[in-house]
Amino acid sequence: MNKGSAASVKREGGALLVSALVGFLVGAAVVAVLLWRDREPTARPAQPAASAGPPPVPAPVPGAPRNTPPPAVTPAETRSWPAIPLPPAGERAGDLAERGLLVPVQGVGRAALRDTFGETRGDGTRAHEALDILAPRGTPVLAVEGGTVRKLYASERGGLTLYQFDPSETYAYYYAHLDRYADGLAEGQELTKGQVLGFVGSTGNAAPDAPHLHFAIFRLTPEKQWWKGDPINPFEVLRGLR
Ligand SMILES: [Zn+2]
Repeated sequence: MNKGSAASVKREGGALLVSALVGFLVGAAVVAVLLWRDREPTARPAQPAASAGPPPVPAPVPGAPRNTPPPAVTPAETRSWPAIPLPPAGERAGDLAERGLLVPVQGVGRAALRDTFGETRGDGTRAHEALDILAPRGTPVLAVEGGTVRKLYASERGGLTLYQFDPSETYAYYYAHLDRYADGLAEGQELTKGQVLGFVGSTGNAAPDAPHLHFAIFRLTPEKQWWKGDPINPFEVLRGLR
C-alpha cells in the first residue's frame, strides 16, 4: 500500500518528499514498536538496567536456567533437605561426648562399633536402645569412666548385669550378658576408668554362639533409681559425635 501511494505521488512533485518521509517514519515507528515489543519479555528481568543497551545479553541468561531446572526432577526432595536440620546428636548425649568414654570391650576400636540403638528386639515388640559389641567370650569388659558400682543384677533378659553410676550421678551405664564379674567386685565399689568389671558372655537372652556386651547409657531421673532413666545412644557418645 505504501509503495502504491508513494508511486502515484511521485508525479506530483513537491508532495513526494513529504509523503515519503511520513511513510518512512510510520514504517520505522511500526518496526520500532515491533522490535521493542519483541524485546520486552526477555528484557523484563533486566529492565531497570537495560534501558539503553539493545544487545541481547539478558536473553540467554534467563533462557538457560529456565531450561535446566526441569530435568532435575526432584525439586520437592531437595527442598526438604535444607528444611530438616541434622539430628542434634551432641545435644541428646549431653556432655558425655566430651568425656572421652572408653569403648567398654577391651581391644575393640571406635571404628568397629555399629549403631544398633534404633533396632528392635523381642520380635519387634521393644526398642533395643543400646549398643551390642561383639567379642569372643571372656574378653574383658571395662568401665567406660570412673564412678560407682550401683547394682549387680541378674535378670532374665540381661543375664549377669552391672549398673554403674557416673561420678556426678547424672548417668547410669549398663553392662549386660556378662559371662562373669571380675573377682571381688561389689556394689558400692568405686571404679576407675578402664577397670575390668567382668567378661563378655552370652548370659540372659543372648545367642550362645554370639557372645557380646550389651551396653546402654541412660540419664537418671531426680530419684536416681538404677533401673530408670532416659536412654541415650552409646554409639553417638563413643564415636565422639557432637
Ligand atoms: Zn543388645
